[in-house]
Amino acid sequence: MIETLTKTETLLKVENLQKYFPIRKGIVVQKHVGDVKAVDGVSFDIRRGETLGMVGESGCGKSTIGRTILRLLEPTKGTVTFEGKILNDLSGEEMRKMRSQMQMIFQDPYASLNPRMRVGDIIGEPILIHGVSKRAEREKRVRKLLDVVGLSPYHGARYPHEFSGGQRQRIGIARALSVNPKLIVCDEPVSALDVSIQAQVINLLEDLQRDFNLTYLFIAHDLSIVKHISDRIVVMYLGKMVELCNSEELYKNPQHPYTIALLSAIPVPDPTVKRDRIILKGDVPSPVNPPSGCRFHTRCPKVQGICKEQDPEFKDIGNGHFVACHLVN
Ligand code: SF4
Repeated sequence: MIETLTKTETLLKVENLQKYFPIRKGIVVQKHVGDVKAVDGVSFDIRRGETLGMVGESGCGKSTIGRTILRLLEPTKGTVTFEGKILNDLSGEEMRKMRSQMQMIFQDPYASLNPRMRVGDIIGEPILIHGVSKRAEREKRVRKLLDVVGLSPYHGARYPHEFSGGQRQRIGIARALSVNPKLIVCDEPVSALDVSIQAQVINLLEDLQRDFNLTYLFIAHDLSIVKHISDRIVVMYLGKMVELCNSEELYKNPQHPYTIALLSAIPVPDPTVKRDRIILKGDVPSPVNPPSGCRFHTRCPKVQGICKEQDPEFKDIGNGHFVACHLVN
């Protein structure tokens, strides 16, 4: 994490982003009967050189946001602007070129690497697609990338199944770095790894950020994972943002009842410290038919009458700390 104060220039801006997946029914004629409202009006920016952590339970829309930013999914509404260019306006070919600047690291290192390709070819493929056609030059770059992510040049001749989970994620990181991106969407990059390996991969990502001036959107389902790496954190619930602020502020002074409940679930390494865990009632409601008013009201320990009727505004309570809750002023 580089000093937050130096990070003021906006690299990526997301405005009122919405992604609905239509539900169709019928055998002969398919009728549109509803939508899965995966992302519903989300706005934030990411500053050059920062890591924005994005946290929430499964189904809150965080991975959909990552994919929609890169236009792996087309947004239903809203705009994504990268370095002043509105990505929604780009043609397929223009977007393909733009992807050399915006890469993604996937959650499952087992599934995201082609098992029939050698590691050197997996890392070299994006370099070829984005214009480095000379084989010798590509191979030299692949060897360098293997070294950068802590693997050896001879690993390039092996297949993905010959590696451990942590090593495979390193290969995924090398592939993302191969085209010199400015932004990397890290979609739960350590969730499938053992705890001891998670720290190694997070440290590697931090070193690479410093060395290559990278900007990250770091998606996770657990606040303990994003704490160390993030400059700012956004907490998502059922397709909406409920809290956004500086990482330190979020852990010291959480305001939204959902954030407070998530923080209470983080284990404390000191056995003498007692923490009262807040257990939320029930499951996350369906995004097909989200609750009226505040979407968290069916599980909120502080729910009031107004919460069921009015959607709370996502407002700045000072120093760039945003919260969507009727009880917070
Ligand atoms: Fe809970 Fe109401 Fe605040 Fe929503 S608006 S988080 S239901 S107190």
